[in-house]
Amino acid sequence: MAIITTKPKGTQDLLPADSHKWQFVESVVTEEAKKSGFSMLRTPMFEHTELFLRGVGDTTDIVNKEMYTFLDKGDRSITLRPEGTAGALRAAIENGLVHEALPVRIYYLGPCFRYEKPQAGRFRQFHQFGVELLGPAGYAADCETMSLGVRILRRLGLQNVSLQINSIGCKNCRADYQAALVAYFDQHKDQLCETCIERLGKNPMRILDCKCPTCQALAKDAPTNLEYLCDDCKTEFEHVKSQLQALQIPYVINERIVRGLDYYTRTVFEFVTGELGAQSAVGGGGRYNGLVADLGGPDLPGVGFAMGMERLVMLMEKQNAPFPEKEVCEVCFIPMGEQAVQKSAVLAARLREEGFAAEYDLMGRSVKAQMKYANRIGAKYTLVLGDNELAAGQANLKDMAGGEETAVPLTEEGLLEVLYQKNIDRMFGDIAEAAEQMNSQGE
Ligand code: ATP
Ligand code: MG
Repeated sequence: MAIITTKPKGTQDLLPADSHKWQFVESVVTEEAKKSGFSMLRTPMFEHTELFLRGVGDTTDIVNKEMYTFLDKGDRSITLRPEGTAGALRAAIENGLVHEALPVRIYYLGPCFRYEKPQAGRFRQFHQFGVELLGPAGYAADCETMSLGVRILRRLGLQNVSLQINSIGCKNCRADYQAALVAYFDQHKDQLCETCIERLGKNPMRILDCKCPTCQALAKDAPTNLEYLCDDCKTEFEHVKSQLQALQIPYVINERIVRGLDYYTRTVFEFVTGELGAQSAVGGGGRYNGLVADLGGPDLPGVGFAMGMERLVMLMEKQNAPFPEKEVCEVCFIPMGEQAVQKSAVLAARLREEGFAAEYDLMGRSVKAQMKYANRIGAKYTLVLGDNELAAGQANLKDMAGGEETAVPLTEEGLLEVLYQKNIDRMFGDIAEAAEQMNSQGE
């Protein structure tokens, strides 16, 4: 196929037939974030490359292999954002949010870019929803963010997504653990991939996160971090667990979770599913106590997470989780002739003002073809408008499901009155049906 009619590898078109699913997920994550006091922050889709070198870390897969980096016409090194945290913190620092009322609670939603090998659930342009909570240092904030993630998954109707947690310690205890890791991996250096040999000297914990099968096999028997935690970190992790229990949030401890960023401290977590093949993480996050200071801000602790929107939608589809229906056309006008088109336009405009979706033919098609179209879009009612109807000032509103026809006056208010009455009737019908169902369940 010609290159101009083919999308770049690893990208996706979100087609009209599916867009309501995305809008639903977007509205759920937004509503839930707002309920917890988070406000939206929108940052540029590209930043100075240095931000990600600092904010993501130069021993991560993202920085090592996955960034879309280029020189702009002013010879600046620019990178398309591979994740949301670095840009969000940069903006919070640059705009002084970190000096305003604490905690800072921000959420973001938008495209991210990583040069990865595309496969199901792994794209070069994908979309993240994420939150950052800046200010509090304690476990309560960790659990507050995790519980927001859990609530989102529940509201989307997702099943079998486990919350996996770990603590990777602090500056004080990590040194001992890193020494133990270096000692272990050093013995098996010949089996490590090239990147991991480099990580051995710089950040041995990253080896545990390597996707390379031989490194993964070695990582299985590597020393685990929980036994190296200092007393403070141990106590903190106990608090995290008991707070999750108090919130009745089930969790699993997974000591292999070290997360992608270099700057995570203490609590790290992932939302994991077994139903998306190799792409098992629907989201992940953790505490990053040194990061704000490292990006030039005050010494402010933080915690956050990000979820992959594609993976949320895919999992919902896989599990047949309920998406709300697409916006349905209330009345599809079927005009014949120019005058009827004009009348349809006027009536449709009024209906839309009142919140109803309405359409009319713009193609000059036959009544039969227009009826076929109305059927295809699932219109609730059709209204045929010809010369006779215009002359009589009255037309027949046809219920497309039941087939019955109701005579309606061809005035804006007359048509609206009938539609409101029909909607009320339908609502009472639904209530009666629900009551009957409840009664029969009670028997
Ligand atoms: P993975 O282990 O799958 O590579 P990750 O650890 O790189 O994930 P994060 O950096 O934690 O991912 O990003 C948060 C979330 O964003 C992930 O849990 C996932 O749902 C989503 N995500 C990350 N990379 C991609 C991608 N290339 N395509 C689609 N979704 C992605
Ligand atoms: Mg990755």
